[in-house]
Amino acid sequence: MELLIEAVKSSPEAREHVTEILLEEKARKEYARLSGVTSLEGMKRWREVQPDVQERFLSNVFCGNCGVVRIKDYTVQLMPYGIVLEGVCSTCSRKVARVVE
Ligand SMILES: [Zn+2]
Repeated sequence: MELLIEAVKSSPEAREHVTEILLEEKARKEYARLSGVTSLEGMKRWREVQPDVQERFLSNVFCGNCGVVRIKDYTVQLMPYGIVLEGVCSTCSRKVARVVE
């Protein structure tokens, strides 16, 4: 590790390379955090939504096959524009998602 630090200090290219690796690592972690796994912050915000309002979102999801359906087996994601519920259509099991505004 110390050798690496020395190399980075003495060479701008090495520094850039290390920065790139760190950024890639960060992007990968960010992606892993956002895909398929319920995010804690998203869940926290979702829990703050009134139950009757939650119900309205859960039962008002658009499925490309069936139209407006109920979502099931969903995870809660936190996106820059709000909470997103990702799950499947309760009728045909196709993937559906719903943004909670
Ligand atoms: Zn469907």
